[in-house]
Amino acid sequence: MKILVLNSGSSSLKYKLFDVKQHSEIASGLVERIGLADVDGRLVHKVPGQEEYRVEQPMPDHKVALRLVINTLVDGDRGVIRSLDEIGAVGHRVLHGKDAFKESVVVDDAVLETLKSFIDLGPLHMPANIMGIESCMTLMEGIPQVAVFDTAFHQTMPKRAYLYAVPRRLCDEFGVRRYGFHGTSHKYVSRRTAEILGKPLSGLKMITMHLGNGSSAAAIKDGKVIDTSMGFTPLEGFVMGTRCGDMDPAIVPYIQQKLGLSSSEVDDFMNKKCGLLGMSGVSSDMRDIQRAIEEGNELAKDAYDVFIYRLTKYVGAYFVAMGGLDVLVFTAGIGENDWLVRQHLCESLEVLGVKLDLEKNTGLKGKEEILSTPDSKVKVLLVPTNEELMIAMDAYELVTASKSQ
Ligand code: ADP
Repeated sequence: MKILVLNSGSSSLKYKLFDVKQHSEIASGLVERIGLADVDGRLVHKVPGQEEYRVEQPMPDHKVALRLVINTLVDGDRGVIRSLDEIGAVGHRVLHGKDAFKESVVVDDAVLETLKSFIDLGPLHMPANIMGIESCMTLMEGIPQVAVFDTAFHQTMPKRAYLYAVPRRLCDEFGVRRYGFHGTSHKYVSRRTAEILGKPLSGLKMITMHLGNGSSAAAIKDGKVIDTSMGFTPLEGFVMGTRCGDMDPAIVPYIQQKLGLSSSEVDDFMNKKCGLLGMSGVSSDMRDIQRAIEEGNELAKDAYDVFIYRLTKYVGAYFVAMGGLDVLVFTAGIGENDWLVRQHLCESLEVLGVKLDLEKNTGLKGKEEILSTPDSKVKVLLVPTNEELMIAMDAYELVTASKSQ
């Protein structure tokens, strides 16, 4: 069965077509500059082993973008399928499922209405996610549309992990609680880890470290998340590329007053001007930070040290929360590529019995690998994430389960 995966952003539409049985990618692409008045939109379509195909044309909305994607997929020359009938389902990446969606779901009108009521919780992403689904519902009638949520995998957290110390009314009436994000990545990586180790998820105590521009950790016991570092929004937790992560909430009104910022401006500031970028004044990119450290930049060194220290504290906390740790897993841009970050974190975790094979760790090229020494008490793994494949698998499992009922 073929599954189309869509990630719909405010002015972009990313897609991948999978053959789920083979776990293989048939085609992928990106439509950019959707809804921009002065410039044409652009599609870049890729098929493994073939030359890239590009189109530029007016792209007033997501529906026009999706129509172009569909036409390209079924095109006589560069297409990869004969008709849409070959697509068993479309899996949509959706930011927020609140506490209503603990798993992926086939979207009908009622689900769509519920998703619209979550826009307040993700004003940047949810409208675009919903637009993508609605476009598919009109242009791909009869094909199941599956919503796969960034929050869903974390819905197993107990109350003590997801409640904040505020009156319960804020949670019950306004949904103020920890949700966690990157759930699809944590789910994929934890499942792959169990497969690589040849062990069932039940019985495994695992911490998955998704370290990219946005970063988060998940403490996963018996395959279920018991805690995660991102919170009500993706702002909480680690030092990220441009996000501040954990800090005293009293700082927010204080800097608002000192810098003369409105509430939306301070929100923007904490999301886009802080983290590695804000601390170093150099860049949000870890490679630039490390280059700046080599050149003697002290602010970059401070940013790096706080970055590693905070990763260490979270691992320590989750170790205790789970009553031990069997596996530590690295994934995403930094986790997969940056051997120095892996080495520095693992050095600071020696007290937990973590021993990294330094040679293996440095020689890697972002492939699945066990990085710890045989006598390490905690296994350390590198597992490249594949959120799109996880979305395709979820959509496939859901539609085949509903057909067999
Ligand atoms: P996003 O959260 O936007 O998906 P990524 O997962 O691509 O981000 O991660 C981006 C981060 O990964 C950047 O800080 C970048 O420095 C780091 N990164 C990407 N490739 C490499 C590499 N080859 N070596 C070291 N760091 C890398």
